[in-house]
Amino acid sequence: MTDSSTLIPTLKKYFGFDSFRNQQEEIINTVLEQKDCLVIMPTGGGKSICFQLPALMFSGITLVISPLIALMKDQVDGLRANGIEADYFNSSQAGEEQQEILEKVVTSKLKLLYVAPESLGALENILKEAYISCVAIDEAHCISSWGHDFRPSYQQLSFLKRSLPNTPVIALTATADKATRQDIIDQLQIPNAKQFITSFDRKNIGLEVRPANDRVNQIIDFIAQRPNQSGIIYCLSRKSTEQLKDRLQSKGIDAHAYHAGLNFEERTKVQEDFIFDKTQVVCATVAFGMGIDKSNVRWVIHYNMPKNLEGYYQEIGRAGRDGTKAKALLFHSYADVLQLRRFIDGTTNEQLQVAKLDRMKQFSEATSCRRKILLSYFGELLAKNCGNCDICKNPPQFFNGTVIAQKALSVITRLRQSESMGVIIDVLRGAKNATTLDKHYDQLPSYGIGNDIAWKDWQHYIIQLIDQGYCEIAFHKHNALQLTHFSREVLFNGQQVQMTKPIERNVQIEEQKEKTKKSKKKDTLFERLRLLRLKISLEENIPAYLIFSDATLKEIEAERPMSEAEFKQISGVGQRKMEVYGDEFIAEINAFMAEKKKKTKKSDTAKVTYEMYKKGMSIEAIAEARDLKAPTVFSHLSKLYSEGKEIDMYQFVTKEEVISVKNAKKELNSPEGLKPYFDHFNEELEYSKIRLALTILDRENR
Ligand code: ADP
Ligand code: ZN
Repeated sequence: MTDSSTLIPTLKKYFGFDSFRNQQEEIINTVLEQKDCLVIMPTGGGKSICFQLPALMFSGITLVISPLIALMKDQVDGLRANGIEADYFNSSQAGEEQQEILEKVVTSKLKLLYVAPESLGALENILKEAYISCVAIDEAHCISSWGHDFRPSYQQLSFLKRSLPNTPVIALTATADKATRQDIIDQLQIPNAKQFITSFDRKNIGLEVRPANDRVNQIIDFIAQRPNQSGIIYCLSRKSTEQLKDRLQSKGIDAHAYHAGLNFEERTKVQEDFIFDKTQVVCATVAFGMGIDKSNVRWVIHYNMPKNLEGYYQEIGRAGRDGTKAKALLFHSYADVLQLRRFIDGTTNEQLQVAKLDRMKQFSEATSCRRKILLSYFGELLAKNCGNCDICKNPPQFFNGTVIAQKALSVITRLRQSESMGVIIDVLRGAKNATTLDKHYDQLPSYGIGNDIAWKDWQHYIIQLIDQGYCEIAFHKHNALQLTHFSREVLFNGQQVQMTKPIERNVQIEEQKEKTKKSKKKDTLFERLRLLRLKISLEENIPAYLIFSDATLKEIEAERPMSEAEFKQISGVGQRKMEVYGDEFIAEINAFMAEKKKKTKKSDTAKVTYEMYKKGMSIEAIAEARDLKAPTVFSHLSKLYSEGKEIDMYQFVTKEEVISVKNAKKELNSPEGLKPYFDHFNEELEYSKIRLALTILDRENR
C-alpha cells in the first residue's frame, strides 16, 4: 500500500491539489496494487485523477477508453497543460499521425493514451503487457444495454481482460443503478473488481424550482444577474431551443441553439464556442452536454421538465464541476407534465416511465428539502436538510404530522404493502368503490380513519412521506406503496414527522432577495483574472477552464499570491502551470493592487490629516509635516467635515465670511465651482475659505 506521503507530492506537482477528495486515495491505491475496480462517482466528483495519478507512477502506459472524440481531446489538452505526456488515438487521424503515436507508445514517451473503442483494433500490436500497465474505461455504463447511453462498440471491450490478464482495469461511471453496475462487471470480465460508490451529493449546486409562468422573462432576468457566467438551458423540443435563443438574442444575450436538427459543423461550432467561453448561453435539447467536460458551467436551467430524475440529475450535474457555487433552476408546468405523459403513452415500458415521471413531478412539487428527495431516489439518505435548495432557504410552515403519518403507514401495513397510493387513500377515507368493496377493505379496522382529510390533501401528505423516506413506491410492483426501515420508527418508536399544509408558496421570494442584495461588482480581481485566463485561452487555443478552474481563480482572488512560492500554494496550481502562467497572474494581481491603492489613496490621505488634526496640529504644521500645500489640507478637512467628522470649521473661517458666501450663493444662483465666488468677492476671499464656507452650508442644509 502506497501511503499518501508519496501520493500527495505527485498530486500537487501535476494537478496542483493538496488533498484527495472522496475515495480518490483508496481507489488510486487499489489501482496501484494492480487490482481491478469499478468506480461510481457523480459527474464532477473527480474520477479522472483516479486513473491519471496512477498512470504517472506506472512504468508503461495507461490506456484510457473514452466514447467521444471531443472529450478525449479535452482531457489530453488538460493533461498536457499539467505537464503530463498524453495523446489520443482515433479514426479522425491520418495513418502517419497514428504511426507516430504508436511509436511513442513503444518508446515509452507517453503516460496516457486515450482511444475510442472502435479504434482498439488498430492498436493490436501494442496491446501487450510489456507496454500497457493499466486500462481505464471511462463512461463505463456505455457497455450496458441497461444504461441510457448504450454504445455497441463498447461491447468488444470484453476481450481486453483476455489479452491483458494481469493488467488492472479501472471502470468509471456516474451511472449508479445496480443492474448497470453488474453488467459492467460481467461484460468486462472483472468479477473481483473492488467497487467504490461515492456519495452522489453535489452540494455546491443550489436547487430551485419555479412555476413556469412567464418563464422567458424570468430567464432574461436570471441571466442579467449573472454577467459572463456560462450556462445551459435545456428545452424539450428543437423548436423551443430556436425560439428561446431568438428571444434571448433580442435582449442582447449571447445565446445559441443546439439540437439534432443542426448539421455536424453547426453543432461542433456551438459546442466549441461554448467550451471556449465565446458563447455564454446554449439553448439545447438533451443531446447537448455528453461531450462536454467544461468545469465552469455556472448554471443549468430546465425550461421544460425532464422526463425523469436520472435525466434531471445528469443535466444539472453539468453545472459547477469545479466545486464552486452553481445553480440549477427548473421550471415546472402542468402542461409539460401532460406532454411528457403523452410521449410515454404506448411505449414498451410505459408503466415504469410513468412512475418515474411521477417522481419527477413530486420533486417539482416538494415541500421538503429537494436534495433529500433527489438523493433518496438514488438510494442515498441525507441526514440533514441541505440548506442549499429553495425549500431550505424559504421553508414552508411545518406542523406535527405524526398522527397523519401513522394513519397512512398503518393502512399501508394493513394492505400488505401491495396497493398503490390511490387505494391507500381510498381506504383511509373509507371510500366505497369497486376495489375497496371487492377486496373487503371496508372490513379493516383502519378503514376510514382518515375521512376528515380531503383526497387531494392526503395525496399531498403521502407524497411528503415518500419524499422523507418513510415509505416508497415499488415501480416494478404496480407502484405499490411499501414501508422502509424508517416506517417502523414512526409506527412503533415515537418518531415525529413534520409536514406542511398544502399551500401555494411564492418560490421566487428568495431570488428576489438575492437580486436586491447583489451589487453590480464589475472591477473585481476575479473579473480581471478571468479576462487574463480568457486571453491566454485564445492564444494557446485551449479552453479557459483547462488553464485554471473557477475554483482556482477564486482562491487566487482571495489569497492574492505575490510570489512564486505563494502562488504554488494555491489549489489547482501544479509545477507546470506555476512555471508557465505564474508570472502573468502575479503581474495581474500586482497591477490590480496598485490601481486599488491609487483609488483608495485619497481617502487614506484625508485620514492621516484627520489624525494629525485631532492631535491639535495647526494647518500649517500638518502641511509641513506631510509635505502638502495648505489648500490640500483644507480640502481634506472639508471632505472629512462633510462626511460627518467632528471638526470645528469656524477655526478657519469666520461666521461673517460664511454668511457672505451664503448670500453670494443665493445671488449667483448656486453656480458651479468656486471661480464665480472668487470673482464675486473681487478675489479678496481665498479659495480655501470659500470651499470651507460652502462645506459648512452644505452640511447645515442637510
Ligand atoms: P468527473 O470526471 O468525475 O466528472 P473530474 O475528474 O473532471 O470529474 O473532476 C472534476 C473537477 O474536480 C475538476 O475540475 C478537477 O480538477 C477537480 N478535482 C478533482 N480532484 C480534486 C482534488 N482532489 N482536489 C481539488 N479538486 C479536484
Ligand atoms: Zn434542501
